[in-house]
Amino acid sequence: MSRIPMTVPIVEMDGDEMTRVLWKMIKDKLILPYVDLKTDYYDLGLPERERTKDSVTVRSAEATLKYGVAVKCATITPNAARVKEYGLSEMWKSPNGTIRAILDGTVFRAPIIVRGITPYVRTWKKPITIARHAYGDVYKASETRVPKGSSAFISVVSADGTEKRLPLHDFECDGVVQETYNLDDSIFHFAESCFSFAYSTGQDLWFATKDTVSKTYDRRFRDIFDEVYAEWKDRFEEKGITYFYTLIDDAVARVIRSEGGFIWACKNYDGDVMSDMMATAFGSLGLMTSVLVSPDGKYEYEAAHGTVTRHYYEHLKGNPTSTNPIATIFAWSGALRKRGELDGNERLCSFADSLEKAGIQTIEDGLMTKDLFQLSSLENKRCATSEEFIDGIASRLERLCK
Ligand code: NAP
Ligand code: MG
Repeated sequence: MSRIPMTVPIVEMDGDEMTRVLWKMIKDKLILPYVDLKTDYYDLGLPERERTKDSVTVRSAEATLKYGVAVKCATITPNAARVKEYGLSEMWKSPNGTIRAILDGTVFRAPIIVRGITPYVRTWKKPITIARHAYGDVYKASETRVPKGSSAFISVVSADGTEKRLPLHDFECDGVVQETYNLDDSIFHFAESCFSFAYSTGQDLWFATKDTVSKTYDRRFRDIFDEVYAEWKDRFEEKGITYFYTLIDDAVARVIRSEGGFIWACKNYDGDVMSDMMATAFGSLGLMTSVLVSPDGKYEYEAAHGTVTRHYYEHLKGNPTSTNPIATIFAWSGALRKRGELDGNERLCSFADSLEKAGIQTIEDGLMTKDLFQLSSLENKRCATSEEFIDGIASRLERLCK
């Protein structure tokens, strides 16, 4: 059979360590035999970010704005140890942060559900997708320690120079203070991405804050979601999906009792915490997918996990690893399917379906990497190396694509 042609390229963002090793295997064994792959390639591996003074990251994000669909490998976010390890001239910022800022997007994380790996929460039958508002709040806060006897205020100076001063606390002992902020524009864009993603995937949308306590700050989030919902209400009703608002503590209780199958929009901190809880509760980080969606519909697909450093050092010693490539494979299938949808390329869409099916079938047939082996309840389960596992997927894919 001829390879599937592509008209518009996918932006390809290569990465670091073990995931970079898997990236090449996935392309060589699972994609290139079937797809006449067109990509606009950017190497976001740390050495290339150092060489280009990180301009490669910015260029890859700009290319995503241009073409609309990207697939990204996990990358190292440098810390002091990495600066030393890679001899960096600067502690380059997180590529994900840079890309997110340029796309002004929202990250949606969803688990892949396979037979044999049951979520810790018995009622969960379908994936729960977490949408995290990745701007502001505690992540852009100013904070300081405060000595006893100090007084803290919030002061807002408007453009015409008038000052609004709100008393915060008179410190009777030593303490700490923190100020957070957010922007209407960012909250609107977050809401727009959420309603648009819920609509395009046909799932209900939930949103929660603590607006009974935070009557201005959190209330603003709630009001903006209501405003954006007004624009989507008719389309949501047509599709038979709903928008549901509740308090964050009530949401947590309802999520646990639910059977899943919806998108849970979270403020920044809630999303940070809940996405890690969901990943664990559904099984493994190796089964968690992630897609960054901009308000105007640009998509960047990736795995939720990092570069799996510990496995990479084993790999460098020449030892075979058992690293799970599934989330990275689903990043590729997500990007290929979206590209297919946008270009009316049905063969590409159905190849993406087959690729996912082959991955799931392999695990459900009992062949899996160690992280899944430890969780699976299948009786015939066998632990595979990264390469054996990818070969297992490749042989099933070959049958599906015949
Ligand atoms: P990590 O790479 O996600 O790995 C943490 C641990 O989780 C691994 O050591 C491994 O456990 C397990 N794990 C994660 N993914 C797995 C997979 N696909 N298959 C099997 N096991 C898997 O997180 P990290 O160690 O905190 O971070 C490593 C590097 O990744 C850091 O430099 C960080 O900056 C970067 N990072 C990048 C992204 C991104 O690009 N989106 C996200 C997070 C972290 P065992 O060791 O027990 O086997
Ligand atoms: Mg987190």
